Amino acid sequence: MPDFCCQSRVKAVFVKAVVLMMTVSLLAPESFARFDPKPASPNFYSLDQEVQAGQQAAAEIDRKMPLVTDPQLNRYIQDLGRRLVAVAPGPKYPYTFKIVNEKDINAFALPGGPIHVNLGTIQAADNEAQLAGVIAHEMGHVIMRHSTHMASQQAVGQLGLGILGALIGRGTAGQLAQAGLAFGVNSVFMKYSRDAESQADLVGTDIMHDAGYDPIQLAKFFQKLDESGGSRGPQFFSDHPNPGNRVQSVSAEAATLPRENYRTDSQQFEAAKEIAMGMHPYTAQQIAQMEKSGVNPNNGNQSYGNGSGRNRQEQVAGRNNGSYDNDVPEQQYQSLNHRDFTMQYPADWRAYGDANSEVTIAPQNGIVREGNQDAVAYGVIISGFQPENRDNNPNNQFDEGTHQIIDQLRQSNPDMRTTSREENFTVDGAKAKSIMLMGTSPLKDQQGRTARERDWLVTVQRNDGTILYMVFIAPDQDFSQLRPQFEHMVRTFKVR
Ligand code: ZN
Repeated sequence: MPDFCCQSRVKAVFVKAVVLMMTVSLLAPESFARFDPKPASPNFYSLDQEVQAGQQAAAEIDRKMPLVTDPQLNRYIQDLGRRLVAVAPGPKYPYTFKIVNEKDINAFALPGGPIHVNLGTIQAADNEAQLAGVIAHEMGHVIMRHSTHMASQQAVGQLGLGILGALIGRGTAGQLAQAGLAFGVNSVFMKYSRDAESQADLVGTDIMHDAGYDPIQLAKFFQKLDESGGSRGPQFFSDHPNPGNRVQSVSAEAATLPRENYRTDSQQFEAAKEIAMGMHPYTAQQIAQMEKSGVNPNNGNQSYGNGSGRNRQEQVAGRNNGSYDNDVPEQQYQSLNHRDFTMQYPADWRAYGDANSEVTIAPQNGIVREGNQDAVAYGVIISGFQPENRDNNPNNQFDEGTHQIIDQLRQSNPDMRTTSREENFTVDGAKAKSIMLMGTSPLKDQQGRTARERDWLVTVQRNDGTILYMVFIAPDQDFSQLRPQFEHMVRTFKVR
């Protein structure tokens, strides 16, 4: 009898559990199983082709759309992206993150990893989790291979599966192009289906959860966009149509995940947002106008000759060769007309000083307060120098003068030391020298330690024996990112 007693109790418990499970599954049909990020068929692209197609499209986009070059903003978006990539499901795509200098709230993903977020999106996000949500949603499109799936579907519609199969058998990019599967810039902006949007939300929800962000912020951001939309609504919804019930579907997916103490915001986001709010992005119309009039928004105003054009091609070639790094291409430049020289500098940087004296050119937030002085953390200082006359030979005078300038720099930054030999070259036909130095940045690293700073000194000899010099400054870890801009300034430097 005790057996029976126990059995019935077990049975009672079992029945109760079944009832409980039924209740739960009625409320949330997908309980206890997170979304399975399995890309849909057909898809005629191999993963390599997927990556290649996306990088070709990215190279084209970077010629047509102005990119934000602010080093701190770029570093921030890359740090945030990296945190999400670390937990992303699916193949290890070479994700890259860039900020388009555009006002509209929008973001887009290219096949195989390149993700672009408009500056307007950073300006509109209330907290880091919302921005993470937009990026995670875009990663969802990459992981679900939505773009190449759509391109494949279109090709089936046009050619039929039989012809496609024969064409794609050997599968090079050229054959894909023949099959109408080349991935042009226009296909980048294909409108996603509502199903694709829901899927990207669900993958995004899981990525956010795994990265420690509250997934509901993803839905909240899109809801906010929806409610604040003007007559035609925000641009985001023309490319990413609202699937409806975002809050419910994201909540239902989040309910399948173990509860966590989510974070929503960070100091880094607040700092990045402050920089973004101080910038004035282009409107979509202005960007369209640039494209129409043939202006390359990342390559200045056409007026400075062949050098930069050649450079541009090299950069694009670099991308097509499969370099997965986040190099920042050249962007729009403006002219500085000083009494002693002219040069081009990035359009989103500011020049301080006046046309007759020392000039400092720096990106937003490139100048920081150190004690009660301003210090340049990112940027360039351009100044003139009268060598002390110890030698009558003008060449020796130039050598001497360059050393005197280095001594002077050391006086304001005692840790500074040279890390390269002097190299002789010419700037605008004048004798010039290039020397790399390492010193102490006014910025602290993430552990609160003083960051190392790289300084690139360029001296230029003038006919009257005086010297013009430029000191390009950036924290060591960001120097290579700014190098293209620095080199462009040297290339366009003209002595008056
Ligand atoms: Zn979308």
